[in-house]
Amino acid sequence: MISDLRSQIKNQKPKTKDQKPKTKTHPPMIYLDNNATTRVAPEVLAAMQPYLTEFFGNPSSAHTLGREMKRAIEAAREQVATLIGAANPDEIVFTSCGSESDNWAIRGVLTAHPDKKHIVTTLVEHEAVRNLCKLLESEGHEITWLGVDSNGELDLDSLRAALRPDTAVVSIMLANNETGVLFPIEEIGQMVREKSNAVFHVDGVQAVGKIPIDLKQAEIDLFALSGHKLHAPQGIGALYVRSGVNLPSLIVGGAQEQGRRAGTSAVPNIVALGAACNLAHDSESHHRIRLLRDRLEDGILGAIPNARLNGIPDRSRRLPNTANISFAYLEGENILQQLDDAGIIVSTGSACHSTTRESSPTLRAMNVPYTTAQGSIRFSVGRYNTEGEIDRTLSILPDIIARLVELSPYDKELQEIYSAPSRWGT
Ligand code: PLP
Repeated sequence: MISDLRSQIKNQKPKTKDQKPKTKTHPPMIYLDNNATTRVAPEVLAAMQPYLTEFFGNPSSAHTLGREMKRAIEAAREQVATLIGAANPDEIVFTSCGSESDNWAIRGVLTAHPDKKHIVTTLVEHEAVRNLCKLLESEGHEITWLGVDSNGELDLDSLRAALRPDTAVVSIMLANNETGVLFPIEEIGQMVREKSNAVFHVDGVQAVGKIPIDLKQAEIDLFALSGHKLHAPQGIGALYVRSGVNLPSLIVGGAQEQGRRAGTSAVPNIVALGAACNLAHDSESHHRIRLLRDRLEDGILGAIPNARLNGIPDRSRRLPNTANISFAYLEGENILQQLDDAGIIVSTGSACHSTTRESSPTLRAMNVPYTTAQGSIRFSVGRYNTEGEIDRTLSILPDIIARLVELSPYDKELQEIYSAPSRWGT
C-alpha cells in the first residue's frame, strides 16, 4: 500500500511544462487537496536545507553559528511581514502551526482582559477556533455564534448587533477552508472598531498565499497563518500581533521571539516559511490556479446533473483555488475512495464518526440538506496542478458518479434529477 503510494507520489513530482512522469505502473497522482496541506516547494526546500545541515546552531547562542540562525529568522520575519502587509516585521511572531496561533490569539486576549467574558465568532470557523470557543463556553464564557446564509456569507447586521461593551474578542476567518467563501474582514474590522473595544482576530490560514492581503489597510489586531498551506513544511505558523496589542504569552519559558513565544525557534521551518511567502508573490501562478479551478468547476457542474456548488456562485467572493461540490444522494466517502483508486486526491465535506455520520458544521450552518451535504467533495487546486490533470479528473469523475448513482438507494430522487430538462440545483 505504502509502496503504491510512493510510486504515485514519485510520479507527481513538481513538473515543468514539458516534463512528463516517466513510470506508468500506477496512475500518476493528481493532488487536488491543497487546502488540507501542500507539497513543500523545491525553492522552499533549497532555502531551508542549509539550516538542517551546516547551520545547526541555537539562535539564542552568542557565537557565530547562533548569530547566523538569528539573522535567518529575522530575514524570514521580513518576508512574512511583506506578504501580509504588516507595518513592521516585529509584528510577526513564529509559532508551531495555525492552531497554536488561533489558540494564542483568543486565549491571550481573554487573559489580558479578565473582566470581559464575551466572544463573538461564527459557526463556520475551523476547529482551531470553533472547538476552543466551545471549550471556553463550557468554562463560563459567553459566545455569540454568528450564522451564515445558504451561500455561506455572514450577515453583518447580526455581527453589529452582537458587539457589546464586554466583548473581549471577535474571531472571524478570512477564507473558509471548506467552501473558500471569503468574509469581508476589512468591513468587519471597521465595524468592530467603531462599535466596540474588542480585539479583532482573523484566522487567515486558508487565505495567505492565495489572495493578496494588506494588514496595514485593515483594522485587524491579530492574524493567524500556517506554513503548510503555502508550500512550507508542516509544523510552522505565525501570528501577526499589531503593535500595541497586549497579548500575554501562551507558551511560557525562555525569552525567544522577544519574550512572546517561548521555545527554541524551529529555524529550518521558519526559513522555509519565509521562502514560501516569497514564492507566494508569483502572480502568474495565482492566475493559472484560478483558471484551473474555474475549468474544473465549470466542467463538473456542466456535466453531472446531481452536482451542486456549495458556497456563493460569485467566484470573486471565494478563494480562487477552491470548489466545494455536492453530489446529491451520494456518499462523499464513496466518491473520495473511487477517486483515490484512480489516483485523484480530494477531501470530503463530511466527518465520519464511529457512531454517527455528521455532515460538516459549515454545510449545516449553510442549511445544505443532509442528503446533499453528505455527498460533498472539496477540490482544492494548487501550484503544481496542470490543465491535463484537470481534464483527466473531468474525464474520470462523471463515470464514478454515474456508477454510484446506479447503486444509490435514492434512485427515485436521482431519476427525477437526471431526467429534468435543465440542470438541477444551481
Ligand atoms: N484555520 C483554518 C481556516 C484552517 O484551514 C486550518 C487547517 O486546516 C487551521 C486553522 C489550522 O492550521 P494548522 O493545521 O496549521 O494547525
